[in-house]
Amino acid sequence: MIVKMSKWATPEQIAAVETKLHEWGYKTGKMVGEEITLIGVYGDISRLPTGEIREMGGVDALIPISRAYKRAAQKGEPGRLIHKTVRIGDMEVGGDALTVIAGPCSVESEAQIMEAARMVKAAGAKVLRGGVVKYRSSPYSGWEGIGSGSVEALRHGLKLIVKAGKEFELPTVVEVLDPHDVAIYEDMGVDCLQVGEPNSKNQALLNRLRETPLPVIHKRGNSLDIEAYLLWVERIMAEGKENVILCERGIVSPNRYTRNTLDLGGIAALYYQLSCLPIAIDASHGTGIRDLVHPMTLAGIMAGASVVLVEAHPNPLVAKSDGFQGLFPEQLTRLVTACERVWELRRCLEPLYIPSALLERQYETRVAADRTRFFGVT
Ligand code: PEP
Ligand code: MN
Repeated sequence: MIVKMSKWATPEQIAAVETKLHEWGYKTGKMVGEEITLIGVYGDISRLPTGEIREMGGVDALIPISRAYKRAAQKGEPGRLIHKTVRIGDMEVGGDALTVIAGPCSVESEAQIMEAARMVKAAGAKVLRGGVVKYRSSPYSGWEGIGSGSVEALRHGLKLIVKAGKEFELPTVVEVLDPHDVAIYEDMGVDCLQVGEPNSKNQALLNRLRETPLPVIHKRGNSLDIEAYLLWVERIMAEGKENVILCERGIVSPNRYTRNTLDLGGIAALYYQLSCLPIAIDASHGTGIRDLVHPMTLAGIMAGASVVLVEAHPNPLVAKSDGFQGLFPEQLTRLVTACERVWELRRCLEPLYIPSALLERQYETRVAADRTRFFGVT
């Protein structure tokens, strides 16, 4: 980032800005021109208190020069976006097809996950999800997943979902909580790892995931700013890993009615402006209300998601976790159909989108003439 000082900045003001940046641990480099001075700031600027710099005496503007996240960043240009695809099992995700990943919040028994897999297949979804160790907000909830407590339990839980996936030819997605367990998930044949919301910035887990060949769905932390989130995603990719999928599952907001608030603008920003990675919409955790999952999933697809992550249960009324937001089988079937229709619609509407950058130059040449035309200013 570059701090552009104003024409009237005094040497003391310039020195004050440099001192402040050094105090925060940044290295700087100064370019002194005839009229203005530019101060280059090096390092991870995602945590830089830009507001405070902007307020300092003599500062004219802050000019970003590159994104702190490089691998997760958008690589194309306006009108020619480049989006990556990621393989889950032998499915290609994030390309021309929409991928629906569905299943219960947790794997509860062999009979339950088998029936859930049958339901997912029959509904037309392509990937089976299910948690084996669950994060619970209360220590008294009484259910932390079939795989919690011991390595044997973890292996058993993973075995059940992998078996159900194989039986119905569905690749599987399972959340991993502990960096020391990653090898067990790989060994048991899980096809994709999920980083849950509470672990969105778990440094040890994300560092460990750099080494797995498995694709990773990294959910956005509920209080992470969209660019800070991408920097945590970048952590998994920092040494070259590419198969990562983003996931918007709701953030905190003053809205208390829904469990979280789905940041649809964030999805559009990720898709059109910030990132090359496929984006999943999780309206189950995003709303926490069964009857809102359907419309908000469709809204997420229109905003830019090409992956749907949704909770459904053979009978959500007996689910051991998140039953209130799990779809009934009939609802899942309808949702998959609706998702496919919305996907077709989005692809059909996409050519109507004109990025402003393609028009700006043409309008810039008319600025003086239009000021005169509209305001009589010369
Ligand atoms: C889940 O996917 O079951 C889950 C617990 O999600 P999140 O981490 O987004 O709360
Ligand atoms: Mn859940």
